[in-house]
Amino acid sequence: MYRGRFAPSPTGPLHFGSLIAAVASYLEAKTQGGEWLVRIEDLDTPRCVPGATENILCCLEAFGLQWDGAVMHQSTRNEAYRAALDQLRARNLLYGCACTRREIADSAVLGIDGPVYSGTCRNGLPQDRAARATRVHTAGAHITFNDVIQGTITQDVEHEVGDFVVHRADGLFAYQLAVVVDDAAQGITDIVRGADLLDSTPRQIWLQRLLKLATPRYAHIPVAVNRRGEKWSKQTDAPALDVKRPAATLTGALRFLAQDVPASLAHETLDNAWTWAKQHWQRRRIAATRGIRCDEP
Ligand code: GLU
Repeated sequence: MYRGRFAPSPTGPLHFGSLIAAVASYLEAKTQGGEWLVRIEDLDTPRCVPGATENILCCLEAFGLQWDGAVMHQSTRNEAYRAALDQLRARNLLYGCACTRREIADSAVLGIDGPVYSGTCRNGLPQDRAARATRVHTAGAHITFNDVIQGTITQDVEHEVGDFVVHRADGLFAYQLAVVVDDAAQGITDIVRGADLLDSTPRQIWLQRLLKLATPRYAHIPVAVNRRGEKWSKQTDAPALDVKRPAATLTGALRFLAQDVPASLAHETLDNAWTWAKQHWQRRRIAATRGIRCDEP
């Protein structure tokens, strides 16, 4: 049984960049007779925008992206995250960290995702310092996995990322932990998402191993980048989607995903556009690259 998902963060309206991930994950699931679930990643409450969840769900419906089952909301899942942390803590896999962001930046080498944590608090807190965040040990975390689109990915998490935060200094559970706990709880077998998360995947696989959870298959699609090479996102002011011409917008998303779309598809009804997409979807056409320049979706 195939079960995929789309997991947007409600930090603003759906934009072209996130629609691409929704369309790709939906088509992969539906063309394999699978289910497609939606999870709202409203974990980072200070970054959530009021009304964004409703807006995103409405937008998915307007594009005909009908999900299976109930929508999961991370804001209701604290107990599950806490239980996962308790399990790791009981096996001495976690430690408290007193370091501030500034201290880490000053003392660390730059890794693939910010400064590599050098392990200052790994063997106990310095005197007179209190723990702020909680980190997980990564000694021995040499991760190799076969991404369906990007090929073989290898990462030495300990040296390329360092022991990473699973419970943040501001009291929030970290994305890396929540996503692993939730993908397992929802029984996700296949994750199709933007390649901006490729470097996070080894951290997630490490947590799956420590928590004895199954590792889903991963397929990371290229993300749309603007002319400055930045990912299309709410932060880089990607325009909200045009829901009034959904077939045309869907056609743009399919084209971005390298599908051999006939020019007339943009003028079809949305139903016809989906029928074409389901009949002709070819994941193999998607390039094994992390970003594709896209100025005007
Ligand atoms: N919530 C994340 C985002 O909107 C996606 C997480 C994921 O797909 O694992 O970028």
